[in-house]
Amino acid sequence: MDYKHTFWHKLRTGHLWLQYCPACARYVFYPRERCPHCWEAQLDWQPLSGMGRIYSYTVVRVSALPEFQPPYIYALVELDEGVRLATNIEDCPLESIQVGMPVRIKMINREGHEALPVFVPA
Ligand SMILES: [Zn+2]
Repeated sequence: MDYKHTFWHKLRTGHLWLQYCPACARYVFYPRERCPHCWEAQLDWQPLSGMGRIYSYTVVRVSALPEFQPPYIYALVELDEGVRLATNIEDCPLESIQVGMPVRIKMINREGHEALPVFVPA
């Protein structure tokens, strides 16, 4: 299976998995053929803690996607493993979101689609 699909298929385990480069001991995100840090081609997949902090966020008040009902929080989450991931924040009142706030992953199961990883306050 190619690396682009592996990311989505691994979410079925209930955990977030990212590529990991054993040559330079760094995580790689988004998924790709070679490590962007050292150009190594042999990358592993490792499960992550699912824990992180809000790096930045915005409140979306007009959505072009029918799956997401505004207003909702769209954020960059910095995972404990050092990778930043664009995602939605759920189960969080708009007025309580803050940069630096600890969050944990929550998988949203969607009929006919792969699970969607979002984050909630930890
Ligand atoms: Zn590397």
